[in-house]
Amino acid sequence: MSTKLDWLTQELANLKQQNLYNAIRTIDSPQGAWLVVDGKRVLNFCSNNYLGLANDARLKQAARDAIEKYGVGPAAVRTIAGTLALHVELEKRLAAFKGVEAAITFQSGFNSNGATLPALVGKEDVIFSDELNHASIIDGARLSGAKIARYAHNDAEALEDAITQNAGTYRRALIVTDGVFSMDGDIAPLPQIVEVAERHDLMLMVDDAHGEGVLGRGGRGIVDHFGMHGRVDVEVGTMSKAFGVVGGYIAGKKEIVEWLRQRGRPFLFSSAVPAADAAACLAAVDILEESTELVDRLWDNARYFKTEMQRLGFDTGVSETPITPVMLGDAKLATDFSRALFEHGVFAMAIKYPTVPQGKARIRVMISAAHAQADLDKGLEAFAKVGKALGVTR
Ligand SMILES: *Cc1c(COP(=O)(O)O)cnc(C)c1O
Repeated sequence: MSTKLDWLTQELANLKQQNLYNAIRTIDSPQGAWLVVDGKRVLNFCSNNYLGLANDARLKQAARDAIEKYGVGPAAVRTIAGTLALHVELEKRLAAFKGVEAAITFQSGFNSNGATLPALVGKEDVIFSDELNHASIIDGARLSGAKIARYAHNDAEALEDAITQNAGTYRRALIVTDGVFSMDGDIAPLPQIVEVAERHDLMLMVDDAHGEGVLGRGGRGIVDHFGMHGRVDVEVGTMSKAFGVVGGYIAGKKEIVEWLRQRGRPFLFSSAVPAADAAACLAAVDILEESTELVDRLWDNARYFKTEMQRLGFDTGVSETPITPVMLGDAKLATDFSRALFEHGVFAMAIKYPTVPQGKARIRVMISAAHAQADLDKGLEAFAKVGKALGVTR
């Protein structure tokens, strides 16, 4: 007998048949260079824990202290009774760290885009969006109701053409791009994009989720990396990657931040980040401001790993950051590769459609400051073996 949910059974079967079904692994250990995954101790090449802060003793202590002082639940949205002294302090510290006028925190980076795009543009407006922008930018853009004009990836000329083509058709316009593209590890050409934005007097927003704690002096992000201070209206950040905790934020011009406190819907309609998380984020900012040691180690590790992978004959794509894609193309090959790595004690997930375009499946290796030289060498050895066994390298 057929039921109204048969379509789901069919869709799920299709995913499995196309090797696009996500088999989700379960972690049973703290984040770090090594993880216990599905009961097995494996080298971790998957996490966004760039600086190793997710299990840092100082962050954990800050979280414990905050729980003792404030308890666990926020019990309110930020605009009613949910704004703690810790949130206010964190926003001040983030603004100072980023060298901007003001900052506002949200529950996640995803939410930060969902809050900001609809608050800045609406039906009469246009968003000029890089074609490879993150899903949360795409969703925020759709939610805004603005026309979305996609331009060719990292191409400031294509952006300019799109602006010219849409001239006179909109009330306001916003350019939005990822800072670091999470699946390829390449960096947006921000100086050229800033120039275009300034020439046309358009608002400019950069999602720096993978640049935060990675690029710029001491991990201050892409705007710092290119010395573009004051010339980008909105920076989106996340505290779930290099900061090792959870939460998102917007850093930029004070009018924008003030407006988001009034009109950023997740700020008004979803409960605040818990005290423990806010306190742990503050401890992460302390660590980043104290020393560049972790950021430096991250880059040393990333350079070493990428160079050795290329020497082994792997195609690491266009990455300019610690994100190291290992381009394989076929989704089944990527799945088999990941499975074989796991058998060799290395946890590196295959990334497939719809996270990357069809035919561009890959293993994405995330290098961290938490990796020791011996860890990287162990990973390289596994890649060398599996690469040969599956005919990817010679
Ligand atoms: C990871 C990511 C996000 C989402 O951040 P969360 O804090 O995990 O919600 C947003 N934008 C980009 C570009 C990302 O890479």
